[in-house]
Amino acid sequence: MYERRDSESAGGGRGREYSGGGRSGGRMMRRKVCSFCVDKVTNINYKDVSRLRRLVTDRGRILKSRATGTCQKHQRAAARAIKRARHLALLPFAPE
Ligand SMILES: [Zn+2]
Repeated sequence: MYERRDSESAGGGRGREYSGGGRSGGRMMRRKVCSFCVDKVTNINYKDVSRLRRLVTDRGRILKSRATGTCQKHQRAAARAIKRARHLALLPFAPE
């Protein structure tokens, strides 16, 4: 069975409105704040697995800072901590 959507058959292409608000290209993205900055973390401890877990995927890959909202400074520190945590088997290794 093929289901049809009413909204597609109706109308003549009009009705799309851009609510122009600033210049945020393309996707809608909520502005994230670096969670480390919020908590004023200066040293990211590799033992802080619960925190690091948020920065890696299920497979153990390090998420991009854009995805997590982590600032570059903390992203670097976190990446180090994650790598260290992997060595200690606190986090899974990413499949390369
Ligand atoms: Zn930060």
